[in-house]
Amino acid sequence: MPADVELLLRGPRAYALARKALEAMEAHKVWPTPANFELWLHFVAAKDSPLGIEIAQLIASGVAFTDEVGEALAAQHLPKAKLNGEILDAGETLSKELASVSRAIESARETNEAYGEQLASASKSLEVEDATAIRAMVQQLTTATQKVTSQNRTLETQLADTTAEVDRLKEHLEQVRRDAMTDGLTNLANRKAFDEALDKACRAAEAQGAPLALAVIDIDHFKSFNDTWGHQTGDQVIRYVASVIGRAGAAPRIAARYGGEEFALVFPGESARAALSILELIREEVSSRVLKRRSTNEDLGAVTISAGLAERRAGESVASLIERADGALYASKRGGRNRTSAADPITPSEAAA
Ligand code: GH3
Ligand code: MG
Ligand code: MG
Repeated sequence: MPADVELLLRGPRAYALARKALEAMEAHKVWPTPANFELWLHFVAAKDSPLGIEIAQLIASGVAFTDEVGEALAAQHLPKAKLNGEILDAGETLSKELASVSRAIESARETNEAYGEQLASASKSLEVEDATAIRAMVQQLTTATQKVTSQNRTLETQLADTTAEVDRLKEHLEQVRRDAMTDGLTNLANRKAFDEALDKACRAAEAQGAPLALAVIDIDHFKSFNDTWGHQTGDQVIRYVASVIGRAGAAPRIAARYGGEEFALVFPGESARAALSILELIREEVSSRVLKRRSTNEDLGAVTISAGLAERRAGESVASLIERADGALYASKRGGRNRTSAADPITPSEAAA
């Protein structure tokens, strides 16, 4: 959605615009599907935009607004759906709108029903002989009211169906979003999710004056493991190491696959000292297990990991924190691997605490 329309839909006129879009859709017999809704939002929010002008021309020429017409307009004027909150927000707005229209129709139906009952009783109480004409007229009115009531019921059902459809769509989009943030091989958070989560956690730590530790973890000599056992077996090892890290990295911690055979663990609210003891448990667990090749049951030996740890300093940027953790990882590699190093010294007595 172009930025200006997006902005309008988060401003004071947002709901009025959404209502206007629905009214315009109803007036021009357009189904309130999410796709149509987005198009018509543009029409009411930005009438002078190319899309707004084209919809106005379609209306003027009396062309039926079919799904094909809608799809062609969307393909030409709307950017591809982005995998972020926008779609979900639009879905939410639409859901709210549909719910409120639904309520409006329900109350209209109740009014109509009450009106019909009044007419029916009025019809009965017209006992005068020569009032046949009046009675016939009232009868007609009653029939008309009943028809409107039944039409409203149909509309209500349609809207309920549409609301359910929008909910399904939202659920699907949420799943797509989750998938987009998850690493396919390990099911840990992927790099994108990690970047976002670390950024958020650092901002929270800064705002609260709380500690935050970051660890980067890398499998040792993995190239030669791959060369010896093959890439697929290498993948199994990555999954195994990820499972150990993932178990230690339950929320509020964040466990991520940072890249190929590298992982990251964020410890919000925890010091480097606290994180160090967790990392040591992870490292010991990984190295203590003799791995077996699934297909042939061959012994693969044990793999080891090296880790680097840094505790965030007040005011420190995310990039600097990552750089210091990376530096500590490099120190672990240089120092012989299968170890954890911290960017800043952690005294032995503290480390044991
Ligand atoms: P070091 O101890 O210094 O980390 O040595 P290393 O061999 O692990 O380091 P290097 O960065 O040279 O090699 C990393 C290897 O990891 C190279 C690549 O083949 C392997 N690798 C990266 N991603 C994957 C993956 O998704 N699956 C598998 N099987 N291997 C991967
Ligand atoms: Mg590496
Ligand atoms: Mg490595």
